[in-house]
Amino acid sequence: MTFWGGIEAGGTKFVCAVGSAPDNLSAETRFPTTTPEETIGRAIAFFAAQHAKTPLAAVGIAAFGPLDPNPASPTFGFITNTPKPGWAHTDFAAAIRRALGVPVGFDTDVNGAALGELRWGAAQGLDTFVYMTVGSGIGGGAVVNGRLAHGLLHPEMGHMCLPHDRQRDPFPGVCPFHGDCLEGLAAGPALEARWGQRAETLPPDHPAWLLEAHYLALGLVNVICTLSPQRIVVGGGVMTQPHLFPLVRREVQTLLNGYVKAPAILEQIDSYIVPPGLGDRAGVLGALALAQHAAEMGGV
Ligand code: ZN
Repeated sequence: MTFWGGIEAGGTKFVCAVGSAPDNLSAETRFPTTTPEETIGRAIAFFAAQHAKTPLAAVGIAAFGPLDPNPASPTFGFITNTPKPGWAHTDFAAAIRRALGVPVGFDTDVNGAALGELRWGAAQGLDTFVYMTVGSGIGGGAVVNGRLAHGLLHPEMGHMCLPHDRQRDPFPGVCPFHGDCLEGLAAGPALEARWGQRAETLPPDHPAWLLEAHYLALGLVNVICTLSPQRIVVGGGVMTQPHLFPLVRREVQTLLNGYVKAPAILEQIDSYIVPPGLGDRAGVLGALALAQHAAEMGGV
């Protein structure tokens, strides 16, 4: 049996796990994201102890970004120009590789989650789909024709520009780079700043949710029109509100207005825009999938 290590490296916490498959994890730990030295050091200590017991074939890192996922680049494995204090230009993957001596897979948290959903979750058997997360930020990963889309760096679906009706919603947005991009208007911190309370405390009949569904649906419509995904998996803390999925699905149909003539959208949208099959484990299991992927690709 082959064992893998996975790091879900989030902006507020790290989750590290070791196992052979989603239903066979042998160890897991989580701790807050502090400085790179301390946080990466804790991850290394965890994996080194596991590696001494059962050798790991590879470690996958699914990280917040922006980051450099291109193995041919001199800054491969770096968190790059993140606004997160202390983390800009952190050489993350090499620190893990040096400490453990195993191949390291390194990609965005959403690309990792997309790979995990493809292997074990809600995207099994598909060749073109999108995974999006709506939480403290918004991000999206795409598998196109069976491969993760990277291109120039990696997709930044959370920062797409949307029509913003300032009569309906005068809120300027919270993205430090763009103001009212999708993330600036619809991520958890935008909800909290606009309404003065945390998203999970807003009741289901609050007008916040219709507006939220509108912005998320605009984002999904852009993704549908650009990539023609066979399914869109949407995770993240904001999406754990059970009333939000039906609102988003209906708004996607309204905005598309019958133009995309696919039964998946016209008749079966409940199974087209779906929560992660791996639930809140999509992140850390996605990191395990990145480890497997790295080993299959020969490692870096
Ligand atoms: Zn932005």
